Amino acid sequence: MLDSLFTWLLLPLGLVLGWVLGRRAQPAAVAAAIAPEQLGGLLTRLASDDPDQAIAALTQVAEIDHSTVELHLTLGNLFRKRGEIDRALRIHEALLTRPNLTPDIQAQVRRELAFDYMRAGVMDHAEAQFERLVADGRYVTESLDQIRIIYEQGRDWEHAIAAARRLEAAQGESKRALVAQYEAEMADEARRAKNVDEAVRRARRAVDEDPACVRAHLLLGALYEGKGEFGAAAQAYLRAFQLDPRFLPDVIEPLYRCAQKTGDQQGYLQFLSDAREISSSSLPYVAEARLLADEGMDPMDRLAAGLEVRPSRAVLAQFLEVLEKQPAVIAAGLDKPAASLRQALRRLMESSPRYQCGNCGFSPRQQFWQCPSCKRWGTITPIDEAMRLPGA
Ligand SMILES: [Zn+2]
Repeated sequence: MLDSLFTWLLLPLGLVLGWVLGRRAQPAAVAAAIAPEQLGGLLTRLASDDPDQAIAALTQVAEIDHSTVELHLTLGNLFRKRGEIDRALRIHEALLTRPNLTPDIQAQVRRELAFDYMRAGVMDHAEAQFERLVADGRYVTESLDQIRIIYEQGRDWEHAIAAARRLEAAQGESKRALVAQYEAEMADEARRAKNVDEAVRRARRAVDEDPACVRAHLLLGALYEGKGEFGAAAQAYLRAFQLDPRFLPDVIEPLYRCAQKTGDQQGYLQFLSDAREISSSSLPYVAEARLLADEGMDPMDRLAAGLEVRPSRAVLAQFLEVLEKQPAVIAAGLDKPAASLRQALRRLMESSPRYQCGNCGFSPRQQFWQCPSCKRWGTITPIDEAMRLPGA
């Protein structure tokens, strides 16, 4: 209660006082716009923490000129920021019914009203107001972008694509990367619904929109792999890695699986060799050690080389796993401490975030193609230090 009163005293009172002081320069306009007793009543009601009465006092102000509109707008925004959407809506709706608004001010009020509706979750009303702004040629790109966001939030990807295309035309900036993400969303939905052909079709459309869409290539890889088309799957995974080597942790295991199926060990080795060159990850060393172990060869040297060149938790954990099986280590009674250390490393790796948003730093355990924090698309990439082991 005290907090609330304090906010009400400080914020709106300061706002109204600032406005009054600003008005001193134009005494003639003050008389025309708002009578002193009305202003007094407004201040009293704000100070006595009675916002509803304050709104009533505000709407009783007979004349609306530029500065009283600003007062209405500022107060409305203040309500919206405080989460009091009903009050913000009442102020802005009442203001919009005023007959003497200039087109500029009307557009300004409509914009605020549209944001109120969005905050209130009344998306069709918000969209209608933004569409009206577009039709009136006001706040066009912002409104089209908000319409796009409305459809995006509603996961209505077809309409989101249409809105993105309108925005592209109005703004003159390509939105194809965004459209590719929306196509990929539809591909993911089709995949979850076990409609593989539709998923492939959508993922290909995503690639057509944006050939550099890593997500679409990863998805195509998974879809082809699911269909048993391992050669095509490997090509798609490889393309994802070539487009963005940071995705190595996401492709190294799928490529291993595909190589097992196609028997193209040489191709996989070439990929690991390229990955060692291109990326700073230790994972190629871990994967090569596994290949050696698969063939019954000693992977110790490869892991030791990895530890020297690319020290990481992953390569250390793998090194310990091999080490603890060495007869000399067992004979010396060091296998158990080595195993404890390896398990501790595993737990550390399992509790670490695997991905990070390059825009806001949000670090989730799983991949999100739209950052849940900053809402950007395609900004979240694997953190190599998360150190998933191939096969883990
Ligand atoms: Zn982010």
